Parts: sequence; structure tokens; C-alpha cells
Amino acid sequence: MSLPVVIVGTGLAGYNLAKEFRKLDAQTPLLLITADDGRSYSKPMLSTGFGKNKDADGLCMAEVGAMAEQLNAEIRTHTRISGIDAGHRQLWIGEEAVPYRDLILALGAEVIRVPVAGDAPEAIFPVNDLEDYARFRAAAAGKQRVLVLGAGLIGCEFANDLSLGGYSVELVAPCEQVMPGLLPMAAAAAVQAGLESLGARFHLGPVLTSLQRSDSGLLAHLSDGTQVACDLVLSAVGLRPRTDLAAAAGLAVNRGVVVDRQLQTSHANIYALGDCAEVDGLNLLYVMPLMACARALAQTLNGTPTAVSYGPMPVTVKTPVCPLVVSPPPRGAVGEWTVEGSGADIKALCHDAQGNLLGYALTGTAVQEKLALNRQLPALLA
Ligand SMILES: Cc1cc2nc3c(=O)[nH]c(=O)nc-3n(C[C@H](O)[C@H](O)[C@H](O)COP(=O)(O)OP(=O)(O)OC[C@H]3O[C@@H](n4cnc5c(N)ncnc54)[C@H](O)[C@@H]3O)c2cc1C
Repeated sequence: MSLPVVIVGTGLAGYNLAKEFRKLDAQTPLLLITADDGRSYSKPMLSTGFGKNKDADGLCMAEVGAMAEQLNAEIRTHTRISGIDAGHRQLWIGEEAVPYRDLILALGAEVIRVPVAGDAPEAIFPVNDLEDYARFRAAAAGKQRVLVLGAGLIGCEFANDLSLGGYSVELVAPCEQVMPGLLPMAAAAAVQAGLESLGARFHLGPVLTSLQRSDSGLLAHLSDGTQVACDLVLSAVGLRPRTDLAAAAGLAVNRGVVVDRQLQTSHANIYALGDCAEVDGLNLLYVMPLMACARALAQTLNGTPTAVSYGPMPVTVKTPVCPLVVSPPPRGAVGEWTVEGSGADIKALCHDAQGNLLGYALTGTAVQEKLALNRQLPALLA
């Protein structure tokens, strides 16, 4: 029997690659290995579950057995690969060696954990996969007050969603505005005001220094001396691409596992895509890029070497109280922001010196202009 194509990871990257590959090749043995339970779900939906009143089972799109059948694949769940022997084309699961024809790393990114003093560290929950979400939902049942750490895209989405779910939400983040690095100030102010209209309270500037149990739940101490009473904490302070296995195997890593436009790592027959990969210098933690990579890599694995290209990659942020679409300027591009509109309806455009549109942030009614603007945006990987 021929050696399998092995995909490590069953997130959107791993499963979409497997689906694209099976469209082209129905026969080659396919093995998927995942540290989690292998259920298929759409990760972006994790920050919509409270508003829609959906638990983890409600967000699950397919059980692992159904995925194995659909993909004509073996799927090993709750199985963590521990090493890669690139020279001998095999990977390690503890003592077990698993040979591969091609190995694809779709390992995702792990949550950054910040050190917090106090006697309640177990009340801090990251939500980065379906199992995390199930744990957080169980802990939040019957509770009222959630402190969100981080005011980035994911922190703001959860603030909106938890508010819709009836929770009282406070956010703490060491920045001057929400989504710094992604939004110009006027657009950030529109989103913050929208979330505040739902009752969310912001503590921008300080960090959480300690979390203590109290008679009525928890008491969070912030670095500016503020104390926030809450029942649990959702941590959304950032993600770090999983590169350790690749680095230990001698593959080139930078911010992510370094791959070329054909998604090949520095070693033949090993590829990477999704949150763990840095594609031609870009580590984009979004769905659209990984879908483009899955389509291109499936072709390559099927014998037609294919380079991925990225068009414009606008991101729709799920803050329905203040609709938001953002397309950040390409890396290294130099431009000037101009802002039109006021209040909830902001149209912020970034142009270069020649007047070419580089990026935008649209809030409120201005999001209607996204399709027309998308046509003017430059491709991120031409
Ligand atoms: C709350 C939230 C909301 C989001 N909203 C949006 C959005 O609206 N739009 C958008 O474009 N993007 C959004 N994103 C980002 C998007 O969801 C991710 O970019 C994407 O899901 C990443 O998929 P992935 O398959 O690369 O990683 P993951 O889904 O993290 O999958 C990684 C897989 O690797 C496995 N794994 C890891 N280590 C090992 C190991 N050693 N051995 C075996 N298996 C291992 C894991 O078990 C898992 O199966 C959001 C992210 C979050 C957290």
C-alpha cells in the first residue's frame, strides 16, 4: 500500500485541505491526526454562540466519524504528534513512528497566556477551539459578570456576543483604543461606542495584575488601581503560531512556519498552511487566506505544483452593534488615512502618494461601500 498523505490538524485549514485534495484524488491514503476531538466546526462562530444561544454541540457541523467517511480518511483524535523526522519521512506520536508520503502541518496558533497573580487562575478561560468554548460556556452558566482581557478583534467580538447573551461585560487592555494596529482611531471609537451602548465598560491602558476569590465571586485588580468585580474572565490577549515542532525538526520558522508560495517548508514533502504558516512572509490568522492555500496545496499534492495568490482580504468583524469591515494596508505599504463620516458611520480610507487605495475601515452604514472599494484594493500576494 502506498504511503499516506498525513495532515496534522483538523481545524479549518486541515479539513479544507482534505476536502480540496479529495476533489482531485479519491484514492491516495489520507491520515488526519488531531490533538482535539476532530469535530468539524467553523471557528469564527465561537464568538457568536451566546447571542445565538448555541452551545458547543450546536456549533458542531459534523462529528469525526462523518468527516472520516466524507473524506475517505483515517482520523486519529486526541493524538498529539511529538516530533518530525524529516530525513526519514516519518513523524512521531510518542514512541510510534508514522511514515508519510507528504506531511502537512495545519497546527493552528495557541493562545498567549499572561501571568496573573492571585488565587483564581482557573477562572481565566481562553476560547480558541470548540472544547475551550464548551468549558467556558459551562463555567459561564448561571453567572452574570464577565471580564474580557484584550480589546482586539476577538475580545471585541466576545464583548458584543456576551452582551447579547445577557452578560454584563467589562474589558481591560493595555492600549489606547480597541483593535490597535487594525483600525484608525475614528473607526475604533465607533466600535467602542457601539459596545458601550450595550453596557460594556472599557478599561483601556491598564492590565490585569491579580485575580482573587471574593465573597461575591472574583475581584480583579488592574495595574491602575481599579478593582473590577466579576464572575469569570475570558482571555483574548493574542495568539502565537505553533512552530515548536517544525523548529525542533530543523525547519525554518519565523513568526510562523516559513513556507514558499507553494506552501512548502524548507524541507521537501513537508508543507504548512493556516494559522501556523507564514506564507511568503505573511502570517494572516484569517479564514480567507487558508482557503486559498488549501485550494493551491491540493493541486500541488495532486502533482500540479501551484503557487497560492491572495487577492484583497477584507475581514468582517462580528460586532453587529457596530458593523465593521476592515482591510488593512499590505505589509510595508506607506499611506495616509483620511476619515469621513461621524459617530457610528465611519469611512476611513488609506491611500498611497499616487492616490491608490491601500486599505480601508468601514463602520455602520459605510460598510455598504465595501464591494466597490474591494475592486480598487491591491492584491496581498499577486
Ligand atoms: C473567536 C474567534 C473568532 C474568529 N473570527 C474570525 C472571522 O470572523 N473571520 C476570519 O477570517 N477569521 C476568524 N478567526 C480566525 C480563524 O478562525 C482562524 O484563522 C482559523 O480557524 C485557523 O484555522 P487552523 O486550522 O489554521 O487552526 P486551528 O483551528 O487552531 O486548528 C489547529 C489544529 O491543530 C491541532 N494540533 C495542534 N497541535 C497539534 C499536535 N502537536 N498534534 C496534533 N494536532 C495538533 C489542533 O488540535 C487543531 O485540530 C477567528 C478566531 C477566533 C478564535
